[in-house]
Amino acid sequence: MNENCIFCKIVQGEVKTQKVHEDEDLVAFKDLNPQAPTHLLVVPKKHIPSLAKCGKEDEALLGRLQASIASISEKLGLGSYRVVTNVGRQAGQSVEHLHYHVLGGRRMTWPPG
Ligand code: AMP
Repeated sequence: MNENCIFCKIVQGEVKTQKVHEDEDLVAFKDLNPQAPTHLLVVPKKHIPSLAKCGKEDEALLGRLQASIASISEKLGLGSYRVVTNVGRQAGQSVEHLHYHVLGGRRMTWPPG
């Protein structure tokens, strides 16, 4: 828990969101500023600033996050979707708590801008 972190506040229930899933390791909720008809954020409960800051001890959690993205997406009926995690400001990271964007419901362009 980092008291200045908005996603830690969401994990703690101090900031309200539209949660679609929660378990002991992670929460998934709707992005406030959606970039696609479905835009979820999948966030570990543990405060890790980004993928670049994960250690060996986080490997099982990273596996859980990816497996959960697949199962949550399936439950929501998302047949096709994109999973993105931004690492660092230049890549577009604005919240320094590891999170995966799950975007679906429209055709995606490649390469991304
Ligand atoms: P990133 O720019 O990759 O760090 O992604 C952060 C995402 O968090 C952005 O897409 C924001 O729209 C989203 N976001 C920030 N605050 C909230 C919030 N309180 N509830 C839901 N989404 C949020």
